[in-house]
Amino acid sequence: MPDKNKQRKPIIYYYAIVMLILVLLNLFMLPQMRQAQIIETNYSTFIKETLNDEIEEVEVQSNQILFQKKGDETIYRTGLIDDPGLTDRLLEHEVKFKADIIEQTSPWISLLVSWLFPILAATLLLRVLMNRSGGSGGNMFNLGKSNARVYQGSEQEIRFKDVAGEDEAKENLQEIVTYLHDPSRYKHIGATMPKGILLVGPPGTGKTMLAKAVAGESNVPFFSISGSEFVEMFVGMGASKVRDLFKNAKEKAPCIVFIDEIDAIGGKRNTGGIGGANDEREQTLNQLLTEMDGFEGNNGVVILAATNRPESLDPALLRPGRFDRRVPVELPDLKGREEILRVHAAKVKTAGNIDYNVIARMASGASGAELANIVNEAALRAVRENRNVVTQKDMEESIEVVFAGYQKKNAILTDEEKLRVSYHEVGHALVAALQTDSAPVQKITIIPRTSGALGYTMQVEEGNHYLYTKEELENRIATLTGGRAAEEVKFGTISTGASNDIEQATKLARAMITMYGMSDDFDMVAMATVSNKYLGGDSTLACSDQTAADIDARVVKIVKEQHAKARKLLEDHSDDLERISRYLYEKETITGEEFMAILHHKDEEPETPAEGVPSEETPAKAE
Ligand code: ADP
Repeated sequence: MPDKNKQRKPIIYYYAIVMLILVLLNLFMLPQMRQAQIIETNYSTFIKETLNDEIEEVEVQSNQILFQKKGDETIYRTGLIDDPGLTDRLLEHEVKFKADIIEQTSPWISLLVSWLFPILAATLLLRVLMNRSGGSGGNMFNLGKSNARVYQGSEQEIRFKDVAGEDEAKENLQEIVTYLHDPSRYKHIGATMPKGILLVGPPGTGKTMLAKAVAGESNVPFFSISGSEFVEMFVGMGASKVRDLFKNAKEKAPCIVFIDEIDAIGGKRNTGGIGGANDEREQTLNQLLTEMDGFEGNNGVVILAATNRPESLDPALLRPGRFDRRVPVELPDLKGREEILRVHAAKVKTAGNIDYNVIARMASGASGAELANIVNEAALRAVRENRNVVTQKDMEESIEVVFAGYQKKNAILTDEEKLRVSYHEVGHALVAALQTDSAPVQKITIIPRTSGALGYTMQVEEGNHYLYTKEELENRIATLTGGRAAEEVKFGTISTGASNDIEQATKLARAMITMYGMSDDFDMVAMATVSNKYLGGDSTLACSDQTAADIDARVVKIVKEQHAKARKLLEDHSDDLERISRYLYEKETITGEEFMAILHHKDEEPETPAEGVPSEETPAKAE
């Protein structure tokens, strides 16, 4: 459980104080405000009104006369003129003399009203705001204190068995657990544990979970803080937070300090830089390095850090004696996905006959977090449909929800568009099937999704695939162009529906040339470097402008060739394209098996097309 040592006062407490101050301000300010309602008038009017008995009371001051009329709260002011008969005249008309037409506020009260109260109110307001803002700034009276959350011996402690798959990472971290159980064994033999261990891998693969599991298994306190929480609004505060964190950790040793997103402070330092925005971050990083160097390897504090951008880290952080051990936490493979699904499915009520292997195959490329989300979506779906167990169908549908969004309930596609989407999707699947003669897809659907996809082809992974041949990659590009090719073959016109395919095909063709050495001209020369392996794997070109232009020309050539190949295949099998597309149009969703059955049993006509299927007459085929 997080150790919250500072209890926040309820917000209503602050509101009450601010309200009280406002009431007091009003009370004391009122007399002053009355002062504001003084109306200037001239001396002759004053005389005239005196003679007409309209004046109630008057205060003659050294340089002015203030007066009030009968039945009127307003104070009038006029200048003082040498008028010896004034007093007699006023007495004659029974005007009262007064000394305090304007009530004087005591100097203490005015000091209070004009200075102390506003300062007090502003301070309180600021305090309320700072408390509310929480986050990295936290409480303004807490600057420079590390706001690491501390967990110890909680009920929901995470253990290694809760982290499915990731066997290598667990094996690696088991050593830390053994060490934390009995540091003296290591001391005795003279071995030092690594001070820092860096968990690297894509987001959602269970890095935080693993770190917590190490703490859970070793039964030691777990300090958790995110790199971005160190970055403070005042320079120097981040460094002071690091100091505070390590001070606390040393007091509680043996313990684990976990710094999530360490790249937020551990990014490469600016070498030639002169001051600027990065100063704070650099100071924080320097302090972290100093702290790590400062403590003995065997004092029982183990620092785990996680990042999905290891290449951006400052080399100084990775030096021996700092984060010198790197534990990769990769996306789970088929077996890992199945295990993760089982771990999460154990937390919900499921029907007994769920085939997790099928679901794991369908969810190829999913991270642990996505798989957890799939199980949860499936459970939500079961509740929505008033069932009390999660079924295979719930799981399958939720995979689509997680990857492609929810189904759009109200049909937004016209019949023409729906037909085009059917041909497009079947185009992909048919090109894939004709090239490999195997079921290319798990499922094809033309039900639009909230993600914006109008149709959706779910691919399955047949076992684990680690290597691709040049032909396989070319076939993949041909499959990607299959959707557009089908539109050309059927309608003779093209649409915007292929934008995502175009992006993927181009990326693949470019990678073939620049990274996989699959072009004759460039042979095995690397033309690009991957800049962000775990976050999309974008690559940066590392070649001359002249070569870049050559690469572009070759990318175009590869895609063009494969597009032509796909179109030829579809033209040669236009009757298959026709039959399957119309079947899909009618059914809206077909499985991979149905697809293969229609492809191979040519004489079997699909059921009669639904009403409203546009006629067969279509524009001439594209050349
Ligand atoms: P990361 O720190 O790598 O971004 P997290 O550890 O925060 O990922 O994982 C997010 C969630 O995903 C976890 O709370 C858990 O529900 C789920 N998850 C991720 N990997 C696994 C795994 N290997 N086994 C079980 N659940 C996992």
